[in-house]
Amino acid sequence: AALDIGRDLGSALVTARNFEHEHRLVEELKTLADYKSRLVATVSHELRTPLTSIVGYLEILDGDDGLSEHSRKAVAAIQRGSTRLSRVVEDLLVLHRLADGWIGTTGPVDLAPIVAATVDLNLGPAGRRGIAVDSELPTAGATVLGTAHDLEHVVANLVGNAVKYARDGGRVQIVLELTRDEVVLRCTDDGIGIAPEDQDQVFEEFYRSPDPEAASRQGTGLGLAIVRRVVDQLGGRIELESALGVGSTFRVHLPVAGS
Ligand code: ADP
Repeated sequence: AALDIGRDLGSALVTARNFEHEHRLVEELKTLADYKSRLVATVSHELRTPLTSIVGYLEILDGDDGLSEHSRKAVAAIQRGSTRLSRVVEDLLVLHRLADGWIGTTGPVDLAPIVAATVDLNLGPAGRRGIAVDSELPTAGATVLGTAHDLEHVVANLVGNAVKYARDGGRVQIVLELTRDEVVLRCTDDGIGIAPEDQDQVFEEFYRSPDPEAASRQGTGLGLAIVRRVVDQLGGRIELESALGVGSTFRVHLPVAGS
């Protein structure tokens, strides 16, 4: 019996040491995560101010009739670059805010006009690649609790991705539906699709599929991370169905306001 007690004490000691070790590791990871988050927030804030002045001065240059053809092209290229940079900075700030918990007061937001406006904005880029965009929206009742700004991000990312990853000459379908207690946004494309092993990871920050077809499209890998965080915060869920070379369907379910 004495031997048993000794053995038990020994293994309890090992367990306690392991526990202490794990506890220390968890603390270290927390500190690192906190550091990463502060770094991202500080850098994004610091980039935002000079970017605003770059964009402002570019607008002045753009309106200058005296520019040579060469300078005009240079201004256009800088404008494209700074627009892209502004988008990344904005996405990083949104992601940081969402990671810190919900900030801002939620209220009833009608998704239908947001979806309609987003589809309109995407018609130009879609048309240039011969992609047909169909949309079906309910006339009333697609109201959820949230903030318009964050819901706009969700819709813009999903509709934008459907067009971006569709095949040239293909078709994108955006449907907003009501069930008894949910508002469902369905975005379907007939594009490159997502391999089964990538389907969970696409919602991670900065994850971009290694597929060369996907990599050839511009992106930061932040869009779906934002979508998932907003949807989680609002008590909804997101589903993905996809097959490589066939296309993808993203479905966002959000509780209908007042249900
Ligand atoms: P981004 O499009 O900026 O790379 P996202 O977070 O929106 O970032 O998407 C992450 C990755 O998921 C993309 O890089 C792409 O590989 C994949 N993906 C997202 N939407 C689609 C889609 N509709 N069809 C195929 N792949 C997609």
